[in-house]
Amino acid sequence: MTSFDFMSLAHSGVQHLKPYQPGKPMAELERELGISNSLKLASNENPLGASPKAVEAIINAANGVEIYPDGNGFQLKQALAEKLSVEAAVITLGNGSNEILELLARVFLWPGKNAVFSQHAFAVYPLVTQAVGAELRIADALPDSHAQPYGHDLNAMLSLIDENTGLVFIANPNNPTGTWITESELREFLQQVPEHVIVVLDEAYCEYVQMSEYPNGVFLMREFDNLLVTRTFSKIYGLAGLRIGYGISNAAIADALNRARQPFNTNLLAQVAAVAALADDEFVVKSCEVNNQGLALIENELLDRGLPCIPSVGNFISFMTKRPAADVYNALLRETVIVRPIDNYGFPNGLRVTIGNAEQNKIFLTALDQVLHD
Ligand SMILES: *Cc1c(COP(=O)(O)O)cnc(C)c1O
Repeated sequence: MTSFDFMSLAHSGVQHLKPYQPGKPMAELERELGISNSLKLASNENPLGASPKAVEAIINAANGVEIYPDGNGFQLKQALAEKLSVEAAVITLGNGSNEILELLARVFLWPGKNAVFSQHAFAVYPLVTQAVGAELRIADALPDSHAQPYGHDLNAMLSLIDENTGLVFIANPNNPTGTWITESELREFLQQVPEHVIVVLDEAYCEYVQMSEYPNGVFLMREFDNLLVTRTFSKIYGLAGLRIGYGISNAAIADALNRARQPFNTNLLAQVAAVAALADDEFVVKSCEVNNQGLALIENELLDRGLPCIPSVGNFISFMTKRPAADVYNALLRETVIVRPIDNYGFPNGLRVTIGNAEQNKIFLTALDQVLHD
């Protein structure tokens, strides 16, 4: 064996990358504790499962998996185009919307260019930026006292944009803060962003948001050519395990992204499931209802226990613990409940919990009480 440092061969952005920390898998906790009934509220998955129509479509398609998928995703793009009233040519399909974020970085960033995003923003933005050797420009978040505490400060972001800026990432709502940006705030921001800068509006949770002032990025694209919206089937549609998401942009940006992607980046089962899920309005409505009830409940219960939380419009909420969050996280694991530490997001005393169904929320709160009283 040589002692050659192979990591030193990687470009410096990669050498300094801190890998993404996913939620702890249930099977892992169950192996560790020798149990079989853990509860994962760590990755903002849908507590109702997947859309039943999508599951049926997967079963029906399972016998055809010896065939490559349609590399162009014709059916899914048609279904999306119809649903969103756009042309199919403006859509880029991705292996999760995460892949769209990565493609954007690969296509529009390189050493010497920079990407602008907010402190406490979704962890994938710095990852994809650093992985291509571009500069990270991180704007201070809104203060604790703001109506959107720790949310994106669009003016601060604007002031970091220069001639080398390739991308601006905005999560609306943001994960893990659950904070959101109104239509008028977003429009005012977009009016000031130079046209050479692509604004990536990440709408992974948009289907959950019911505020009247919440913008629809796809409508705003009619006004702003440099706006790109990402959405996913991982959250409200309950298809996180399949990895399917998409970007919507002007056709030239979509063309560039589609040139750079793998020929068969989205798989056959994901494509048919997404088409079926898209038609399952009933499942989306139900998921939203369950989330609204659970979100209000969890927020109240956390506040009742003296745990400050960041008001959220997503299917998760972040809250602050009074002792180191790692202790509370580990104690919850021993109660068989998996939540998500958010120290890597700049909240060393914070935990994020996904809103579950009524029964799961009760299990979480009971476990939390147990932990807080220990
Ligand atoms: C979960 C999430 C995504 C995307 O997830 P995919 O499963 O890759 O589609 C994107 N953005 C944010 C803010 C998220 O929380």
